[in-house]
Amino acid sequence: MTGTIEATGMHALTGPFHEALRRGELVVQHCKACDRNIMYPRHLCPFCYADDLDFVAAPTTGVLHSFAVHRVGSPTGFEDDLPYAVGVVQLPGDVQLLARLWPDADGGWDAYTCDAEIVFRPADAAETERRPVAWFGLPD
Ligand SMILES: [Zn+2]
Repeated sequence: MTGTIEATGMHALTGPFHEALRRGELVVQHCKACDRNIMYPRHLCPFCYADDLDFVAAPTTGVLHSFAVHRVGSPTGFEDDLPYAVGVVQLPGDVQLLARLWPDADGGWDAYTCDAEIVFRPADAAETERRPVAWFGLPD
């Protein structure tokens, strides 16, 4: 299932992120040299170019910077997911990531607004294996 990722050498770089998602956890890369968080994972710190990097638990509450609801015209392979929403989530510590958004109580995404609080809510193991992506939803 991850053959393409492994074949390109990306698995070693993104593996800890994906493994954390499988455990229902969210992690970000961290530079031990300059003590800054990094997202998405890189081979070198983009701030100080050190390669002494590890992964740390990420804050699970962030702010929704922007989002889009896809109802038609999905990329190849995502047709069965329609409709779905993706958003840019800003986490404390100056990192952001692209995430899937759970539907709201009405089954759509009308309750979401930009600059509002949003919470990491992991998908189950089967969905995470199918699409290794962080899922966020509205706060309770
Ligand atoms: Zn650094």
